[in-house]
Order: sequence, then structure tokens, then C-alpha cells
Amino acid sequence: MTSTMPAGAASPDAATSTTASRAAETIGGVPGAPQAARARELLRRTTGGHEAPTVAMSAPFTGEPIATLGQATDAEARSAFTEARAAQRSWSAVPLAERERMLLRLHDLVLERQQEAMDLIQVETGKARIDAFDEIAAVALCAAYYGRRSAKLLGTQRRAGLMPGLTKASEVRHPKGVVGIISPWNYPLALTALDVLPALVAGNAVVHKPDNQTALTALWLHEIAEEAGFPREIWQVLLGRGSTIGDALVAESDYVGFTGSTATGKRLAGQVAEQLTGFSLELGGKNPMVVLDDARVPSAAKGAVTACFSSAGQLCVSVERVYVHESIKEEFTREFVAATRRLRLGRGLDYSADMGSLTSQEQWENVSEHVTDARDKGATVLTGGTARPDIGPLFYEPTVLTDVTPEMSVYAEETFGPVVSIYGYTDLDDAVARANATPYGLNASVWTGDIPRGRAVASRIRAGTVNINEGFAASFASVDAPMGGMGESGVGRRNGAEGLLRYTESQSIVAQRGLRLRPFRGMPPGLWTRIMTASIRALRHVRR
Ligand code: NAP
Repeated sequence: MTSTMPAGAASPDAATSTTASRAAETIGGVPGAPQAARARELLRRTTGGHEAPTVAMSAPFTGEPIATLGQATDAEARSAFTEARAAQRSWSAVPLAERERMLLRLHDLVLERQQEAMDLIQVETGKARIDAFDEIAAVALCAAYYGRRSAKLLGTQRRAGLMPGLTKASEVRHPKGVVGIISPWNYPLALTALDVLPALVAGNAVVHKPDNQTALTALWLHEIAEEAGFPREIWQVLLGRGSTIGDALVAESDYVGFTGSTATGKRLAGQVAEQLTGFSLELGGKNPMVVLDDARVPSAAKGAVTACFSSAGQLCVSVERVYVHESIKEEFTREFVAATRRLRLGRGLDYSADMGSLTSQEQWENVSEHVTDARDKGATVLTGGTARPDIGPLFYEPTVLTDVTPEMSVYAEETFGPVVSIYGYTDLDDAVARANATPYGLNASVWTGDIPRGRAVASRIRAGTVNINEGFAASFASVDAPMGGMGESGVGRRNGAEGLLRYTESQSIVAQRGLRLRPFRGMPPGLWTRIMTASIRALRHVRR
């Protein structure tokens, strides 16, 4: 909601009727969460949902209600764009240095108030607190990066003109206008920030549809952004299902940034193509880890645990396939399984658990189905393979499989859960070929005692990011390096210069003096073309 819309966009009566009647210290039945009272206030930040139906969201840890969310209609979605478009005009005139300062303030606020955000993230996603902290870190790193680099990246760049000294060319960057951002539930703070913040600093307004499951986390960041100085109207938060407001989001956006499944991404790309607007898609993966024969096995085994089970495997860049050289496979498997068994599952809003819950019933069913199907078709479950309703309704043990074959769904389909398969190899070419044998290409990991050798292997893997002696965190946190997918894992990149410039249109402004680029009066065209041919030949040798 914006300041000009009536309060209660998500009706206060509808919003958090359950939490409002609870003690302020609980939310979604999770003890110790101080965010219940905030939920109602945060929900006032949404656009739409006055008349439309509501949906009730529940906490993965407990299954108990968190909040009831008003859902925007198609008309409300379109009016959010109208408002964003009006606000964008004055926003793009705010000096870049000031926009950068806002990002740096946001960086400070997110780090200072991280406990609030981690409570909300845990309550809404069910992830462990250490994984929630990864989101805080990602937001702060992103805000600092664009807070310090945007003016340089967006500033007018001189380009080489046709005739040195006579043709002056420059490239100017203009904001796209209003950017539509659609984000998923698995990294609700990080994936919101990584897409929304660069769009804003580039001078765009944003209409953002977070996933209903993690609406409060997105709204928390919206509030922090306002405290940091961003005008509220330039970032409109729309709550609603894609099936209701998706068409409006696509039709009204000057650029669409989508993060989610490959299936949805393909559908949206088809719609966006019709109107010839730009888009970036950050989609699914079936990410491989290749452990070379010279890898340090204890590090690789520990690294694999983080790579596979962070956020209970509900991470687009997490590893689901491990290829280990046969000479160390037994040792690696023993250490990996032992380290996996040591993981503490839990639901406290503290650092007592290493792994949390799955986020939704749908996710839980997908994980259970993949493991059951693999087991039924002959896979060996080395550890895990069972649900843990004793901890919470959506908990599932971290699961390591071997003897996995192509007939099993877990072999090639994204599980998006705490399930990994181990395969042996003897020939590195074969390992690389198998690592590449999916339509995806998001992230990969290579473990070796020889970094140059690791780089050589990495360059042969078809993935947008490859981490050497790390699972995903090194590339995820290196904000200057672009991140995104090849193949069915996506189009475009977030982070780095590309993550900012995607939200701009480039315009070349070229001033010519002293020479008309046509024959002078009375000059025969043949003479002119001979002069030009000689000039073009000479220009080839001029370094510009
Ligand atoms: P999803 O079903 O594609 O949904 C993602 C978001 O898109 C949700 O907010 C969803 O909202 C919305 N949506 C769905 N259909 C829409 C439409 N027609 N128009 C507009 N919005 C629409 O994906 P998910 O299952 O929630 O998320 C998990 C997937 O995301 C995994 O495949 C994972 O690998 C991928 N992911 C990729 C990255 C990356 O950076 N590459 C990061 C995180 C996750 P509704 O459901 O309410 O419609």
C-alpha cells in the first residue's frame, strides 16, 4: 500500500485475526517470536486486498496460523502500476549519490535489526537460524555493493566515436520505468533485495509480488527501505496469487524479474515475449558437485553437508548430485554420512538447530515421493529417508542415497529438499559429462587440492556459477560476480554490473563536427568512397 491509499489494504480485521488475539510473544505458535504485533502493522504496507478473498498462512514449524492475507485483484494490481509509474518520474530525478546513500543506510539497518528479520524468516519458512542469517548477509552485501558502485556503473560512459576528435560518442543509461518483480518463498529476504534494490537504485519504481507464504519478511524489508529513505510509493508490494494478478504484472511491467520454477518461468517468458519487454529469469537447478581424486576428503564431506542441506535443501543453488572419484568414494561417503547424521534438527528461534523444516506441504510431499520412488526402484538410503513429525509437521531428515538410476525421479528432477544422491566415477571426462547431463545449468561445485585443476574442470561445467572447494556460498556472496543460470536454469544475471544494468535502457548520444558523412558539395561519389576507404583502413590501426 502506498501513503495515498486507505490504511488497511490488507484489512486489519482480516489481517492476523489469530495472531492479534494471541500473546504478543508468539506467532504461528512459535514461542519467543516478538513479531506477532508487527504482522498486522506490516500487512498495512500491501497494495490491494480490500475486497478480494483472503488466504491464511501457517508456520511450517507448527502448522499454526501466522496471518490472514488480503489478496489483490487484477484491478488493484493495475492501479499499483499507475501509482508506481507516477512516483517513478520524480524518483528518477533524485541524484544517484542520494540513492546510493539510501542503500548504505539500508545496509546498516538490516545488520542492526537482523534479529527481527531472522525471527520472521524462520517463522515463515521454517529454516534454521544460521540459514536465515545467510539472507541477512546477502542483503547487506548487495546493499553495500550497489550503494558504492551504482553511480559509476550508471554514469554516462564515453565511447569511441567514428572519427577521433570529431565524433564524440557517449552511452547514457535510463531506467526502464516500472519493474515487476516476482519472488519465491525459499529466500524471501535475500531474493527480494537482490532483485528489488538494484532496480530501485537504477531509478525505477518496482511492483513486487512476494510469495504469500513469506509476505511478512518482504514487507519487513519494505519498511526498512522506507526508514532508509526510499519513498514508499516507488516500491509497491502486491499480495496475491500469480493466477489472479500474474497477467497484470506481466502486461504492465516495463521489465519483469522472476525467480521461481522453470515451468512458471517458461510460461511468463512466453507472455513477456508478446510485448517485447525485457526479462530475467532465475529458475531451478539439479546442481552437481564433482569431487576430484586429489580432494581433501574431510573438507569435501563437511562442505557437502552445507551444500546439500542448508535451508533443508530448499535453495536453488544447493547440491543434489555428488560425483566422487572411486578412489576416495568409500571414505567420502563414510564421512559425509556421519556428518549428515550429526545434523541437529529443530525449530527454535536460536542457533540450536543445524537444519529446519520444509516450508510447505507441497514441498514435503515432493521430497517424500522422490525418496519413496527411489527406494522402491532399488536405491539404497544411507541415512535419513524418513519424516520427523515428532519435531514438526513438515520436518524431513537429511537424506543420502546411493545406487540411484535414471528411472528414478530423484535422478534428474529437481527435488528442492534435503535429498542428495552419490555416484562414483573413474574417468573425469565421464564425471563432467554426467554433471552436464541435465537441461539445467545453475550452480556447480568442484573439490580438489589443486585450484588451477579445479578451474579447468569448472570451465567445462555448464553452469552459471561454479564454486571451487565450496558448495554455493562463495559465489552467492561474491556480489561483484554475476549469478544466474544457463539452459533451463534461467535467462539473465543478478549481481554485478549485469544485475544493475538489466534494469536500464542504454542510449548512445553521438555528436559529429567538422565532417559530413556524405560527399562534400560537388565531390564525385567515387572520390568520396575512395577517401572513406582509406580512412577506414587507417582507423583500423588507431587504438581507440
Ligand atoms: P513457482 O511455483 O514458480 O513460484 C514462484 C513465484 O511465482 C511465486 O511467488 C508464485 O506465486 C509466482 N507465480 C506463479 N505463477 C505465476 C504467474 N502466472 N504469474 C505471476 N507469478 C506467478 O516456484 P516455487 O515452487 O514457489 O519456488 C521454487 C522454485 O524456485 C525452485 O524450482 C527453485 O529452484 C527456484 N528458485 C530459483 C532461484 C534462482 O535464483 N535461480 C532462487 C530461488 C528459487 P503463486 O504461487 O502465489 O502463484
